[in-house]
Amino acid sequence: MTGVVCDIDGVLWIGGQPGVGAREFIADLVRGGYPCVLLTNDCSVSQSARREELIAAGFPAGGWELISASGLIADHLVAQNVRTICALGYAEAFLPSSVSVTTDPEAAEAVVVGDCFRSFDVGAVGPVLSALERGVPFLAAQRNATWSDGLHTHPDNGFFIAGLEYCAGRPATILGKPEPAAYHAALRRIGCSADDAVFISDSESEVAAGAELGFDTIHFTTPRHFSDALARAETLREAQCCVA
Ligand SMILES: [Mg+2]
Repeated sequence: MTGVVCDIDGVLWIGGQPGVGAREFIADLVRGGYPCVLLTNDCSVSQSARREELIAAGFPAGGWELISASGLIADHLVAQNVRTICALGYAEAFLPSSVSVTTDPEAAEAVVVGDCFRSFDVGAVGPVLSALERGVPFLAAQRNATWSDGLHTHPDNGFFIAGLEYCAGRPATILGKPEPAAYHAALRRIGCSADDAVFISDSESEVAAGAELGFDTIHFTTPRHFSDALARAETLREAQCCVA
């Protein structure tokens, strides 16, 4: 069965609420038995909190998965057995219980940068750069320049990441989209390969990265356009009628 990997913000979640037909679209995928994972670069809240927000807003209570940049960071820290980090941004969103935050650059085993629009401590920049000078892993959710809530374009965390990369003289390891590892994490979660999956996003760079990996892709622009695109997607024939 064709798997579906779908972006959230600007596709299913528009201007702070469910998009037109979005809840019905996911419900139809669940009903049709399509393995489905929502893949978001959101790092402003925890992965579980984002899922609960969608369910509270009327998305199906089960039958779909959600992977956020917060969750990708948490999983990476656990897999790498990292215990102590210097952090910038809202660390509560991505901090596993086994990891603690320090302001001592000598104690940090990694630097992690999450959502700096949600929370930014200018006093933490110095320790973060000192830790980076020691050569510890430099991890970030993403470095996108902008993101869209479906109504407006906003500056994204690349604003902060690019500055830190400049000061540190080295690039961050990005864990979210459009890095291939994020897409592979989504595919693993639903047990699909890219050539048997559809990737949907409102971001051109995310769509291009998905196509490069072998996904069928749909670039979401408007619900009407999306409905037309689904109607053309033979692999999603059962789900084609569910978007207004
Ligand atoms: Mg988006």
